[in-house]
Amino acid sequence: ALLQPELQREVPPVLPPARHLRPTLLPLHFAVVGCGLGGLAVAHCLGRAGHTVTVFESASRIGDVGAGIQVSPNLSRLLIRWGLGEDLRKASVKPQSITFRRYKTGHRLGWTRWGETMDREYGAPYYHVHRADLLDMLFKLASPYMTLFLNSRVVSLDPDLGQVTLESGQKFHADVILGADGVKSMIREVVVGGPDKPIRTGDAAYRAIIPASEMYKDPDLKSLIDHPEMTGWIGPGRHIMAYPIRGGQEYNIVMLHPDRGTRGESYDLPGSVDQMRADFAGWEPRVEKLLGLVSHTLIWPLLDRDPLDSWVHPSGHVALLGDACHPMLPYRAQGAAMAIEDAAVLGVLFSHITSRRQIQPLLQAYQALRYPRTTDTQLAARLNQKIFHLPDGPEQEARDISMRKGMEDMLR
Ligand code: FAD
Repeated sequence: ALLQPELQREVPPVLPPARHLRPTLLPLHFAVVGCGLGGLAVAHCLGRAGHTVTVFESASRIGDVGAGIQVSPNLSRLLIRWGLGEDLRKASVKPQSITFRRYKTGHRLGWTRWGETMDREYGAPYYHVHRADLLDMLFKLASPYMTLFLNSRVVSLDPDLGQVTLESGQKFHADVILGADGVKSMIREVVVGGPDKPIRTGDAAYRAIIPASEMYKDPDLKSLIDHPEMTGWIGPGRHIMAYPIRGGQEYNIVMLHPDRGTRGESYDLPGSVDQMRADFAGWEPRVEKLLGLVSHTLIWPLLDRDPLDSWVHPSGHVALLGDACHPMLPYRAQGAAMAIEDAAVLGVLFSHITSRRQIQPLLQAYQALRYPRTTDTQLAARLNQKIFHLPDGPEQEARDISMRKGMEDMLR
């Protein structure tokens, strides 16, 4: 249910290693709004393709929250091609398997072998990484190719003039403007031509990291940190995904639960540790012990949007990528992967540009190539929310039987 195997296999367009990209014969100037994972990846890909890239970021520094991220083979394949293989391997943990457990008893419902099976089946590994480490890697990759303006919120955009205006009043021109400004994107409103806000899903995620040294003190928790495995505990209306990161030095926990009207929508809102423990009270004793070790947590209300028909402004000079056009609920762990794939496709397409008249058709081609895959994944993530969070009853029993069967087939 988690993996979407068809997504992990390489499908056209097969993206070449960046070093094989031929620089364009027509260097353009791109302005990228937002320096998250998608913005950094597209700065790298367009820079490698010979274009000039200016990135505007509203935050005062580039950094990410204290949380882990799953890097599935469709993403690790690209990062490895871009030369990050060794950095990625050193910074990550390669999970050997995933186990799903029943929330109250901890009974094993499903188990799937990962590890080398991933490399064999999909040609690239599955990794678990700290988000800040992934961001650092992409930053190093993009830095030689971009001019970065921090503290530079873009407040308006004139698509016909190809001009962005910053909060400071400064104006910048570019041949192409890319909105990589995340789920609350303002560039999306320009593309759509009116107000267009994300919707609250009613779920929120607590996130926490526990030092491995704390877990080693408790024999019941030692096996969770010792064994490179992802564990999911699934229960009515909520679930937990947990896995070691940073070579097993830290344990990352993501706890999805019904939102209680969290105020604010930033990614670094502090959550209440007591409330977090209360939300998972009565779960398997190891979960209660784990949550007992959490000293602080972040809370992240989950926002969503329906698939967007057009990612390209009618002027033909503005387009969206990543969460700005196709935010993903985290139930498939694919949002960053999809943003970075978008970047790769834009880099390849714009390495072929020979005339300014091709800008709009290339942006349209980018959307045509990406739309089916990202939309399927958006919808699949919504479906997983339902499957993971089924209330106890006949549907949940049927789900558990099919998970057990999958496990028995694999163990045979
Ligand atoms: P963002 O990372 O949101 O970056 C947008 C940037 O734009 C920010 O830096 C912001 O400051 C800047 N910005 C915004 N507005 C402006 C403006 N007006 N001017 C200038 N700058 C601006 N994905 C995975 O692939 N694997 C996972 O395991 C995974 N786990 C997840 C777990 C949770 C709980 C959640 C919520 C998401 C998860 N995701 C995962 C999804 C992933 O985090 C996002 O899809 C990804 O970060 C999107 O990248 P982005 O660059 O499009 O947007």
